[in-house]
Amino acid sequence: MNTTISDDHRVLIETVRNYARKELLPLDAKWDKAETSCCEQLDQLYEMGLMALRVPEEQGGLACPMLAYAHILRELAYASPSVAVMVSVHSMVCEAIKMFAAPAVREETLHTLATPGNLSAFAVSEADAGSDPSAAKTRAAPVPGGWKLTGSKFWVSNGMAGRWFVVLARSGTRGTHKDLSMFLLDACQDTVERRPIHGKMGIRGSETAEMSLDGAFVPTENLLGRPGDGLKIALSALDGGRIGIASQAVGIGQAAMDLMVAYAKERRQFNRPIADFQAIQWMIADSQAELDASQLLIDRAAMLKEERHPFTREAAIAKLFATEAVNRIVYRAVQVHGGSGYVNECRVEQLYRDARVTTIYEGTSEIQRHVIAREVLKGSPR
Ligand SMILES: Cc1cc2nc3c(=O)[nH]c(=O)nc-3n(C[C@H](O)[C@H](O)[C@H](O)COP(=O)(O)OP(=O)(O)OC[C@H]3O[C@@H](n4cnc5c(N)ncnc54)[C@H](O)[C@@H]3O)c2cc1C
Repeated sequence: MNTTISDDHRVLIETVRNYARKELLPLDAKWDKAETSCCEQLDQLYEMGLMALRVPEEQGGLACPMLAYAHILRELAYASPSVAVMVSVHSMVCEAIKMFAAPAVREETLHTLATPGNLSAFAVSEADAGSDPSAAKTRAAPVPGGWKLTGSKFWVSNGMAGRWFVVLARSGTRGTHKDLSMFLLDACQDTVERRPIHGKMGIRGSETAEMSLDGAFVPTENLLGRPGDGLKIALSALDGGRIGIASQAVGIGQAAMDLMVAYAKERRQFNRPIADFQAIQWMIADSQAELDASQLLIDRAAMLKEERHPFTREAAIAKLFATEAVNRIVYRAVQVHGGSGYVNECRVEQLYRDARVTTIYEGTSEIQRHVIAREVLKGSPR
């Protein structure tokens, strides 16, 4: 297994780190307070190639290997968890197109997705279909030249500024998951209506939308895979996406860790820095151990994916561990800050809220455990 990051990619990770800490960090607090969209930074992200990280070079992308990509997402999340999830979801859609679109659509769409004005989104969840996407009710009816999609999608990240949506919809009538197909929809049509979901606890700079489809047209060639492949495509995309969310978690955790360490050295009580107290040291030690373990699990899953080995189990383990760990880390970061950590002038307060969603989206922790147990019980060789 290739376990290295090339020198070129190390430079890229460093560049993203510097950019994110200088440019995104101050904006992230503004997006959180005003609940405005981090998409205002999209042009710059496109310019740096960050919206085409997982697009092949032939289609104008950076063809960034999965391991380096995971480290880039961590650096983005350190400064802005909202930007990290925007890039992660868009990259997940790029991968789904790369793997499942017909060759001509693949060629054209990947070029498009690497070009400004073409943010993408993943519209699988519905109000009554979350952990169980096979309960999706959105319908796809065949019409001359394509399909017409009717129904509602919920919780769509990148859902307001996004143009290209992969949409899970029911194209058959058997009433099973084999009816589900995946469509690539251009949302620039009157039959598509989007509304923002406001009042999120965290990642408030990330757009989340509900979407109504009233006979939205998808041309025949924009079916991904074959009719009935929809659930398979959604789950395959989520395997890769989970590596992204685990990386988002480590970025948030590292940011909380750095703040906790700095504060522990600076804050004095009982005539000494609180870092002298063993209780504080243990919180720092446990957090560092969990961050290191999370990164190693992410690296393993990323390398398996890159080398086209099965990685479903490893991605679920990385996501489960890193996202549960980050919630413990941000809890400790607030605890180390005492009362100062409880007000929104302090960044750890925002990180505490931003971390929370990571155990929920792209499969809750309970669903990750289900996936891991299923793979272990299947006895998949390792
Ligand atoms: C901010 C945000 C952004 C999102 N972005 C997207 C997006 O871009 N695209 C998209 O398609 N979706 C998105 N989602 C949806 C997200 O993936 C779902 O919220 C998630 O899968 C959980 O579904 P649910 O909310 O319906 O909860 P439910 O499925 O109703 O689960 C409720 C509880 O029951 C538990 N549970 C459910 N089934 C089982 C089981 N079999 N065993 C044990 N426990 C179980 C869950 O773990 C959870 O604790 C987003 C969600 C949020 C909050």
